Amino acid sequence: MRMDRTQELTAKYIINNYKEEELAKIIYEYGEERFSRQIARKICEQRKQKQIETTKQLVEIIESSIPKSKQNDGHPAKRTFQAIRIEVNNEIEPLFNTVMQSIESLKPGGRLCIITFHSLEDRAVKKAFIEAKGHCTCPKDLPYCVCNAKSLGKIITKKPISANQEEQEKNPRSKSAKLRIFEKL
Ligand SMILES: [Zn+2]
Repeated sequence: MRMDRTQELTAKYIINNYKEEELAKIIYEYGEERFSRQIARKICEQRKQKQIETTKQLVEIIESSIPKSKQNDGHPAKRTFQAIRIEVNNEIEPLFNTVMQSIESLKPGGRLCIITFHSLEDRAVKKAFIEAKGHCTCPKDLPYCVCNAKSLGKIITKKPISANQEEQEKNPRSKSAKLRIFEKL
């Protein structure tokens, strides 16, 4: 399953942080996996010892949670991966869509400034800004753009702005804060 970096990090977060019941519910409902409870239990047992970092680790957990006699229906990990992918998009999409709609409703020259307090939220904002900036996918040697790349404006903050040392000391919550700014064309 091909995922971009934002999706990958979100998937890792879900697998390593969601409660066992939440994982079981997602795997059952989105993956229609009969062994969802067993898989969720095993994920939670394993991650207590060591974070689940790779697809391979997760595949092994899933395979060992499903009885061998029930593994003849395609790849045993397929349903769980599908479920996680759906949950990843449920996590990212609302914020991504809100950012896109906010940019669209700005007046020309207007700026959207967003402060997030969680790295996954920051990733979703970054992703939306890149999307809104638009990117030409034409071959580099073409004299002009033929792919109709549409840009809604420009990203003012190449990197997110963080609170300085002084502010972080005064207000510890600001440590995780990241500010990104987009300017409408
Ligand atoms: Zn182009």
